[in-house]
Amino acid sequence: MKKGINGKTKIIGLVGENIKNSLSPYIHNQIIIKYSLNFCYLPFQVKEADLNDAIQGIKALNIKGVNITFPYKEKVIGFLDEVEESARRIGAVNTIVNNKGVLSGYNTDVVGFKKSLQEVGEFTVKGKKAAILGGGGAARAVVYSILEEGIEEVYIFNRTFKRAGKIKQDFSSFFPESSIYIFPLEKESLKDKINKAHLLVNTTSIGMPPQVNNTPLFDEKLFHSNLLVYDLIYHPAKTLFLKQAEEAGAKIINGLPMLVYQGIESFYLWTGLKPEGKEVLEIVRQIV
Ligand code: NAP
Repeated sequence: MKKGINGKTKIIGLVGENIKNSLSPYIHNQIIIKYSLNFCYLPFQVKEADLNDAIQGIKALNIKGVNITFPYKEKVIGFLDEVEESARRIGAVNTIVNNKGVLSGYNTDVVGFKKSLQEVGEFTVKGKKAAILGGGGAARAVVYSILEEGIEEVYIFNRTFKRAGKIKQDFSSFFPESSIYIFPLEKESLKDKINKAHLLVNTTSIGMPPQVNNTPLFDEKLFHSNLLVYDLIYHPAKTLFLKQAEEAGAKIINGLPMLVYQGIESFYLWTGLKPEGKEVLEIVRQIV
């Protein structure tokens, strides 16, 4: 963007229902400036009734691609020309690429979580045990990611038990080497499994405003110092869940690295350019 927006500028952006506080426009435009690319990343706030028109508009307006965020990651699949395999298995798309009028869907949350675990958490998944709190769209991407990396056992806890069951049902056959166990989000089952786990991830929205004084883990004594504790929430930067984990001696990560690394992966799909994750994370940390 060194010379500003002009007739050759390529448009990328974000489609969601309520994106006023999203960090993605900042992240992507910072990368664009850093590499002097003739791209511009714009926010597109879209009502559900207009979603199909908005997606078809990507072709009509020759937009290079968009990120898709809450609550459209599942709904958008029906409006695309093709969907990459892992996104299809997960049932959620967070990135669309427009290749000469063909719209392809991807899920870069999977790679985003994997890279952030490796590079920021310095955590190797293979052969380990993980406890996942939540069973929504983000949980599906996280569970898929660690199954791909060879986790030995995954324990999924969700308030709506059926939703956890659906993850097990959908993923088990693709990863026969790993074991998936499902539980309601209740104290007794949590105690035994967290004790065994090396990785504990909060994928629920508990801890986000207005629930900042809440935590998905009912008892802070369940944390232990051999855990890497990951909260997908990045606002606030340190949830009560992470504060209690840190006090118990666990290593902690918030959701910012995953957001940055999934963004980098989307950026690569649109531009063919892959910025260094830690550098981008440093830039973003200056404003949050
Ligand atoms: P979602 O599909 O709506 O799932 C929400 C999850 O939270 C479900 O498991 C839900 O349980 C649980 N939940 C919500 N309120 C609860 C409560 N009061 N008690 C118990 N469980 C509760 O949303 P999502 O897309 O998975 O997103 C979940 C979180 O991940 C959000 O905070 C989002 O911002 C974050 N996220 C972060 C990144 C990142 O890059 N850092 C990426 C994606 C998502 P039920 O199934 O029982 O309703």
